[in-house]
Amino acid sequence: MKYNFIKKGFFPLLFVVTGHFSLAQDYWQQRVEYKMDIDFDVQNHQYQGTQSIKYTNNSPDTLYNVFYHLYFNAFQPESMMDVRSRTIEDPDGRVRDRIQKLDNSQVGYHKVGKLEQDGSAVDFIIEGTVIEVELAKPIPPGEETTLNMTFESQVPVQIRRSGRNNAEGIDYSMAQWFPKLAEYDERGWHAHPYIGREFYAPWGDYEVNLTIDKNYIVAATGVLQNADEIGYGYQENGIEGKRKGKTLTWKFKAENVHDFVWAADPDYKHVIANVPGGPVLHFFYQETPETKEWEKLPELTIKAFQYIEKNFGEYPFPHYSIIQGGDGGMEYPMATLITGHRSLRSLVGVTVHEALHSWYQGLLATNESYFAWMDEGYTSYATSLTMAHVFDGEVDWFNNGSYGGYFALAKSGKEEPMSTHSDQYETNFAYGRAAYSKGAVSIAQLGYIIGEEARNKALLRYFNEWKFKHPDLNDFVRVAEKTSGLELDWYYDYWVNSTKTIDYGVGKVEEFDGNVLVELVREGALPMPMDVVVTFKDGSKKIYYAPLSIMRGEKPNETDAERVILPDWKWTHPSYNFQIEGNLDNIQSIEIDDTGLLADINRQNNKWTNK
Ligand SMILES: [Zn+2]
Repeated sequence: MKYNFIKKGFFPLLFVVTGHFSLAQDYWQQRVEYKMDIDFDVQNHQYQGTQSIKYTNNSPDTLYNVFYHLYFNAFQPESMMDVRSRTIEDPDGRVRDRIQKLDNSQVGYHKVGKLEQDGSAVDFIIEGTVIEVELAKPIPPGEETTLNMTFESQVPVQIRRSGRNNAEGIDYSMAQWFPKLAEYDERGWHAHPYIGREFYAPWGDYEVNLTIDKNYIVAATGVLQNADEIGYGYQENGIEGKRKGKTLTWKFKAENVHDFVWAADPDYKHVIANVPGGPVLHFFYQETPETKEWEKLPELTIKAFQYIEKNFGEYPFPHYSIIQGGDGGMEYPMATLITGHRSLRSLVGVTVHEALHSWYQGLLATNESYFAWMDEGYTSYATSLTMAHVFDGEVDWFNNGSYGGYFALAKSGKEEPMSTHSDQYETNFAYGRAAYSKGAVSIAQLGYIIGEEARNKALLRYFNEWKFKHPDLNDFVRVAEKTSGLELDWYYDYWVNSTKTIDYGVGKVEEFDGNVLVELVREGALPMPMDVVVTFKDGSKKIYYAPLSIMRGEKPNETDAERVILPDWKWTHPSYNFQIEGNLDNIQSIEIDDTGLLADINRQNNKWTNK
């Protein structure tokens, strides 16, 4: 007995351990250490910067080039962002033709002065929002190099995400504000021009020293290192004493992040709140009649964080800052910029959504250009659940929620596969509905396919195995497969790489030889396992479950009803028959998926009722 136990138990354990280690060895990611000194002039909205990046090449390839993003160069007439916005059929209302109308004092720019690698000057050219650098000497695998740059920048008027003097009167919303090294991964360089959206960058540490007019309060990614020195104790009353001279230098450090945001305004009110056992929350906003709901925000954000950490994984940073700024809501490491003139529900909604991006984007840093739906969709899904918890309600996926958004897309004739590059969708509508709605449905519907418990476990396991990395779709699929024991490649082949839709119906129902024969028909091209709920006249229910053969297994029964597992349905077969014991008279109704989690675009044919 003892020998058998060891034989059965020990070897699988060994296998699991080796499996895990080989995964860690195969995966690599580049690393950066930024040090920046910024001298900011609030009169001209310009700043001088020096930047040092220690760059470690963890790839198996020798690198001969590097690339930087220069995001502010997008805010110039005739930039790719400008022309795209003026030629796409449904431009973002915040951008439209506003970039074309900017004069020299209103545009944004980064001008590069000196650029050196380990003390030697390098050749580079600036191509719009990208610097192409030819290195002075190649970086072999496993080696590091230091890149030093001086630059001069001008903050554009607020057009999109960042800029000065936003609609609510916040002076500086400083996102995408510094020359930023592009990411190199197993797919190569990602020196994407800044056209509309989506960010992707190497992981690393940031040290930012920002010298600015002493009347400004600065909110930023990272932890303030010199609160005492500048007389700023992170207390509710804001700035106190000690401020001499015209400027102050704010010193921030952030560890293991892939971006750095800051915002500054002389009139910020600063409120702090502690999540018990979790991070310190900072709130920065101008106290006006339009921001009165911010008073209730700390308590509700604490409630949200507690729920999120329990269900989606532990928040690993010491701080999270909710900062009034920007032009809507946008996520950054350890912080968000949100507009603040909102009703309570809208204010909490945007805060929860952006905070959840700390999980789906901040920590699970997918390449947003290719997998925007993995951060917007997963975030939207988790936001629905968290908002229901915070306001003690139920999730309504169907009316205004993600399913409704997806169905409208599927029927619009404008749908494109979710594998489309984020900037390359024909319409902003198709991008938005795919990333937010269809992305959220991908996760809700996964619960229909593998069971809710396995789906929830997969989400947590995905977080724990892939946080602080750059996962992609395959990494999530593998986790979901290992957690559920089911094969799932087919689901993502259809859901992500195609616009095929789900439509099942109940066909003929007839009595034959004292039993009932039921025909199911597949009208849509996208195959799915079938939960058929049969309700009998006596009120009892039975589930007839037909797995797809390509799943290679069954999900567990998570309902109280008895379940009959039918033979697999092969996706090549447009119809399927099964038998219910007993007379037709006993049956009240037969319905495909009574939960609504199956994204069946036509539910009219899902139910047969005995009349
Ligand atoms: Zn989002």
